[in-house]
Amino acid sequence: MYDIIVIGGGPAGLTAAIYGLRLGKTVLVIEKENFGGQMTFSPKIENYPGFVSISGSELAQNMVEQAGAQGAEFAMEEVTGIELLENGVKKVITDFSSYEGKTVIIAVGVRHRLLKVPGEEDFLGNGISFCAICDGAFYEGKDVAVIGGGNSALQEAVLLSKTSRKVIVVQNLDFLTGEKKLVEILEAAPNVEILLGYVVDRINGGDVLTGLDIKKVATGEVETLKVDGIFTAIGLEPVNGPFTGVAETDKWGYLKAGEDGLTQTEGVFVAGDCRTKKVRQVSAACSDGAWCAIAACDFIDRTAANG
Ligand SMILES: Cc1cc2nc3c(=O)[nH]c(=O)nc-3n(C[C@H](O)[C@H](O)[C@H](O)COP(=O)(O)OP(=O)(O)OC[C@H]3O[C@@H](n4cnc5c(N)ncnc54)[C@H](O)[C@@H]3O)c2cc1C
Repeated sequence: MYDIIVIGGGPAGLTAAIYGLRLGKTVLVIEKENFGGQMTFSPKIENYPGFVSISGSELAQNMVEQAGAQGAEFAMEEVTGIELLENGVKKVITDFSSYEGKTVIIAVGVRHRLLKVPGEEDFLGNGISFCAICDGAFYEGKDVAVIGGGNSALQEAVLLSKTSRKVIVVQNLDFLTGEKKLVEILEAAPNVEILLGYVVDRINGGDVLTGLDIKKVATGEVETLKVDGIFTAIGLEPVNGPFTGVAETDKWGYLKAGEDGLTQTEGVFVAGDCRTKKVRQVSAACSDGAWCAIAACDFIDRTAANG
């Protein structure tokens, strides 16, 4: 039995692991896809203290190494639920097995929002990507569309404009919402076209993706764009389905908890982007992880003292 089982290997989960281990507890971190979480999609992080500029993957690698050096155990599995056993033990169920812990810290972050248009499912991961840093090289010298107009979308477009032949940014609003500096870079790039006031209507293709239909919001007029790849960056959403039995959610699906991560279930805590909060950033996720680990250790010590 582990003292603490951390679900999710992003900055919140890894920080929780580091703090728990330093307080003398045993810790298992379970991650379904990608140790490091969302930050691995970020080409550059320039607002995490201690690093003027660092790639998200390098920062993630540093955190994983630090947790490992402190004695964290890691499992690459997807958690599908938590069962509460009679003796206060939490059974964490995964797609391959199950683990028992005295406490659980849920730090599962958020996932990319989908367009929910016809054709999208056929090309996810095969023409439609969420990560220019991971998949941009596949579209070197080719034409791509970036969907979205916020910072993430603009960062993707800037990166792609360096290697792709043409980058078309499609934004539903009549203005871009990302940073002015990024807008200026894109407006000055000769191979970037920005289409404002359009929504995606469908994704086109047979064996391979060939483009997309976009609809002018003001008129309903549909146009077809021919591109080889699509990068979607229209926001993030929680994926807290497996945890609704142990922690309440708000109307958007975020797990309800304060900064201390406490949920309605004793010994179950929530950290990082998956909880109700205003600021979703690496430093805020690390802060949550530290809070939760300290609260979990306190819970373990208190319950042990009370027999
Ligand atoms: C493109 C991009 C750029 C960004 N740039 C910056 C930046 O410059 N500065 C900054 O501060 N922040 C940035 N952010 C935001 C920052 O990355 C997040 O706020 C932070 O990663 C949240 O950490 P987290 O640990 O809460 O969640 P995440 O990083 O989302 O990690 C959660 C982990 O849990 C795993 N998981 C989910 N469900 C399960 C399950 N059922 N079982 C097991 N594992 C599961 C996921 O695979 C994931 O690895 C950026 C985000 C993106 C997408």
